[in-house]
Amino acid sequence: MSISQFKYSVIPEEAEALRADVRCFLKESLENYPAVKKAHSWMGFDAQFSRQLGQKGWLGMALPKQYGGADASPFARYVIIEELLAAGAPVSAHWIADRQSAPLILRFGTPAQKEKYLPPICRGESYFCIGMSEPNSGSDLASIKTNAQRVDAGWLLNGQKVWTTNAQHSHYMIALVRTGSQAESGRHGGMSQFIIDLTLPGITVRPIADLAGGEHFNEVFFDNVRLDADALIGEEGKGWDQVTAELAFERSGPERFLSSIALMHTALALIGPRPDALQARDIGRITARLLTLRNMSLAVTQQLVDGNNPAWAASCVKDLGNVFEQELPETLQLLLEEQAQVNGGSDHAQVLAYLTQMAPSFSLRGGTREILRGIIARGLGLR
Ligand SMILES: Cc1cc2nc3c(=O)[nH]c(=O)nc-3n(C[C@H](O)[C@H](O)[C@H](O)COP(=O)(O)OP(=O)(O)OC[C@H]3O[C@@H](n4cnc5c(N)ncnc54)[C@H](O)[C@@H]3O)c2cc1C
Repeated sequence: MSISQFKYSVIPEEAEALRADVRCFLKESLENYPAVKKAHSWMGFDAQFSRQLGQKGWLGMALPKQYGGADASPFARYVIIEELLAAGAPVSAHWIADRQSAPLILRFGTPAQKEKYLPPICRGESYFCIGMSEPNSGSDLASIKTNAQRVDAGWLLNGQKVWTTNAQHSHYMIALVRTGSQAESGRHGGMSQFIIDLTLPGITVRPIADLAGGEHFNEVFFDNVRLDADALIGEEGKGWDQVTAELAFERSGPERFLSSIALMHTALALIGPRPDALQARDIGRITARLLTLRNMSLAVTQQLVDGNNPAWAASCVKDLGNVFEQELPETLQLLLEEQAQVNGGSDHAQVLAYLTQMAPSFSLRGGTREILRGIIARGLGLR
C-alpha cells in the first residue's frame, strides 16, 4: 500500500448537479434549527426529517431502483451526505441503515431479505444498529461471546452487546455472533451475522448516558431469543469476512472529518470578514487540511466506484480525519475570547462546550486510533 491509493478524483458533473437542490432544501428545513443541535451532526435524531429525505430520493441512493434506490454512483451519495453534514442536519435515524446495513444486505442478503429490508430503508422508515462490541470485546472483536445455537428450524440467541448506538430507536440490529467454537473454527472462524428484530421477546435495551448527558448508545441483552432461520445473513461461519467488508463503508466518509464543523461556522460568524493575523493563519491552515482530507475521502469513493477494496485507504482517512476533528475545538478556542458554556451563552460558547466534551469519542467510535494505525502499518509492510 502507498500514497498511490489516493488518486486525485473529481465528483462527476451529474452527481455535482444534485448539490443545489439539497442545499436549497436544507436552507428551508434547518432555518430555525439551533446551532448546538447542528453540532450533533450525524448523532442528531429526527425520524420525520429522515422520512423527508426518503421522499426526496436521497436515501439508499446507490441501491438498485427495484429496491427503491436510485442506481446512482457513490459520488452522488457523497454529495448528499457532505451537504447534510456541513449543514448539521439530524441524520442519525437512518444513518447506519443507509451507510452500512443496506450495502451489506445488498451484497450478502437473499432475494427475500433484500425485498423485505431495502425498500423501507430507502423510504427513511427503517432504522438499524450495529451489534459488534461486547463487554471485553471491542478492539479484539474476534473474542465475542454472544452466541446463536441451531434449534428446530431457527436459532437460539444468548449474550450481550454494548455501546450499540441508537439501539433504543432501531427496528433491527445486524449482530456479529458466535455460531461455532473458536477452538474448532480458528480465531476468525465460527462467527455469523444475524438481522435481529429488536421487538422479539427476550431482548432488553438499556441506554447508557454519555459525558454530555445524551443517551446515544446502549447495552443490549439477549435472553433465549428465538430467531427464524432467515435471520441469518450471508453464510454461516463467514461473519468475520462480512464484517471486515462492512467496516470499509464505516471508515471513509466525510463524517470522519466533519464532526466538529459546526464550530467552524460559529467561529467564522464571530470572527467576521476581518480576521487578525493569527486568526487568518489558523483559518487558512484548517481550510487546507479540510480540503486535503476531502480529496483523500473522494479518492476512497473513486475506489468504491472502481470496485476496489478501499479498507487500507479508509483507515488512513479515518485516522487523519479524527485527529483533525478532535483538534478543531482546541484550535478555535484559542482564536476567540469566548468561553465554553454548557447552558446559555452564545451559539459558539454552547457548540464549543458540546464538542469539547464529545471530541474524545471521535477516535474511539468505528475502531480506535491505535487499531487503525496497526492496520495502516500492516498495509505499509511495517508489521
Ligand atoms: C460514540 C461511540 C459509538 C459507538 N457505537 C458502537 C456501535 O454502534 N456498535 C458497536 O458495536 N460498537 C460501538 N462502539 C464501540 C467501539 O467500536 C469500541 O469502543 C471500540 O472498538 C474500542 O473497543 P473497547 O471500548 O472495548 O476498548 P478496548 O478494545 O478495551 O481498548 C482500550 C484501549 O486499548 C487500545 N488497544 C486495544 N487493543 C490494542 C492493540 N492491539 N494495540 C494497541 N492498542 C490497543 C485501544 O486503542 C484503546 O485505546 C461505539 C463507541 C463509541 C465511543
